[in-house]
Amino acid sequence: MSSTPYACAKCGEQSIVKGEIGLRTSRDLELIMVVRKDHGVEKKIPLQPRVCGKCGFVDFFVQSPENLKIVPKDKPIDSGSKDRPILEYDF
Ligand SMILES: [Zn+2]
Repeated sequence: MSSTPYACAKCGEQSIVKGEIGLRTSRDLELIMVVRKDHGVEKKIPLQPRVCGKCGFVDFFVQSPENLKIVPKDKPIDSGSKDRPILEYDF
């Protein structure tokens, strides 16, 4: 992690709470981020929250955004969402 101070995306103060802040579900350490809802593809990827100590604004970023791209091995989790197959232009 960089030690560069971040400015809050809402109030602009450089008051982001220091240290790593984690979010977790009761079952694992990752949050499920759903992308491409029209395909029903789910991606599990850790979300890194940033919390502003001034106004309380929370925003998120992911450390490996390339993992969010749809790749040919991704399969819809819900078989009910077959009305729109994954097409080449989605990659
Ligand atoms: Zn703020």
